[in-house]
Amino acid sequence: MLDKADVVVVGAGIVGTTAAFFLSQRADLRVIVLERDRPAYGASGRSGGGVRQQRRSPPELPLVQESVRLWQYFRDVEGAPIEYQQKGNLQVAMTPADAEVLKKQAGAETQAGLAVEFLTAEDVRKIEPLISPEICGANYCATDGDANPILATRYLARRAQQNGAIVHSNTEVLEFVSDHGRITGVRTSRGLVEAGAVVVAVGPWTPKLLQTIDVQVPIIARRTQALVTVPLPPLVRTFVGGNTVYVRQTASGTLLWGGGGDWEQVGFDTASSQNFFKRVARRGSQLMPALKNFPVMRAWSGIADMTPDHTVIIGPVRRWPGLLIAAGFNGHGFAIGLAVGRVLADLVIAGQSSVPIEALSLERFPARFDYLAHYQSIPEPI
Ligand SMILES: Cc1cc2nc3c(=O)[nH]c(=O)nc-3n(C[C@H](O)[C@H](O)[C@H](O)COP(=O)(O)OP(=O)(O)OC[C@H]3O[C@@H](n4cnc5c(N)ncnc54)[C@H](O)[C@@H]3O)c2cc1C
Repeated sequence: MLDKADVVVVGAGIVGTTAAFFLSQRADLRVIVLERDRPAYGASGRSGGGVRQQRRSPPELPLVQESVRLWQYFRDVEGAPIEYQQKGNLQVAMTPADAEVLKKQAGAETQAGLAVEFLTAEDVRKIEPLISPEICGANYCATDGDANPILATRYLARRAQQNGAIVHSNTEVLEFVSDHGRITGVRTSRGLVEAGAVVVAVGPWTPKLLQTIDVQVPIIARRTQALVTVPLPPLVRTFVGGNTVYVRQTASGTLLWGGGGDWEQVGFDTASSQNFFKRVARRGSQLMPALKNFPVMRAWSGIADMTPDHTVIIGPVRRWPGLLIAAGFNGHGFAIGLAVGRVLADLVIAGQSSVPIEALSLERFPARFDYLAHYQSIPEPI
């Protein structure tokens, strides 16, 4: 046997490391994180870093607002060196029809308790002077922002370890172990780990892992890409999304571009593609023409985990007591990851969440659901 724990967390992305941090605050719990590679290897280390509350599926709003309170906590109370800033997020309309959609969305979000305002093109240019004069306005959320995804994920892993959690890198979970219908541990590439509860936070790899206990999770993997330019003087103040791309200026001065349109179904291939460069160059220069000629320093890609209703899955797996999952972040799980990790910890410790998650359960989908066919009929998320 490799180890024994009260709680095993599988996956050391932003969700798993945050869950481990909150679980490890309980001194009487032995918490073990099992990571196939190393912390931040998955999407969490490849993220654009946007901490956006607007433009989410409505049931996610309370969670992402709680997440922002946690981002603030780590910045203000812990002084975490994770480059978290609330510098605002603009969601830009390129056409009058887009503007109408955004106006309705701002109204609904404001009514639901998130302050989002629709700004005219002229007002947008007061905030972001380099934005194209051709735009038709934008939704602005001043409390949105960004953080450094690698620093944040590793910070949380380190904080969990300081509290006594053990992180086993290079340890792949292969299957679950059960006794009388309850999950009692996991079998890994390095041996058995017994556990009182198992929290699965492995993003797009969730369906494969849960298949081993005959649980269907309706998630598909989509490649999404990003690039950074060389460091530049200040050019972009906020996080700007529009025309299917997004851009922000990082703490080191690089411009980080991502998105680019239809996310590809290429399995788990994380190569960068020429097509992505072309689309970002074309669509990005339509959005912010002054930014079109800066040299690219580095590009990468990662895998987003998509659900049929573009809404996260979080909570216990009812058929298997002792097992909890969180997955299906639809390309924006970095922002919400802190609250999701906290909720998972609360569910293990207290059996309940202070943030409503009933609408986010795995059981909202039929047990045998032809979700691959379903994906053909739904629009892209961006
Ligand atoms: C290019 C790109 C840009 C993005 N931009 C943003 C953004 O601006 N804002 C935002 O909110 N979100 C963004 N996202 C999405 C966000 O990064 C993810 O939704 C989020 O990081 C998911 O976190 P996670 O902890 O669930 O999964 P991951 O970070 O993928 O972590 C899962 C971990 O599990 C491990 N693992 C897998 N299988 C096993 C196993 N069997 N045993 C042990 N370990 C295993 C993996 O190695 C991995 O480290 C972006 C994603 C990409 C790829």
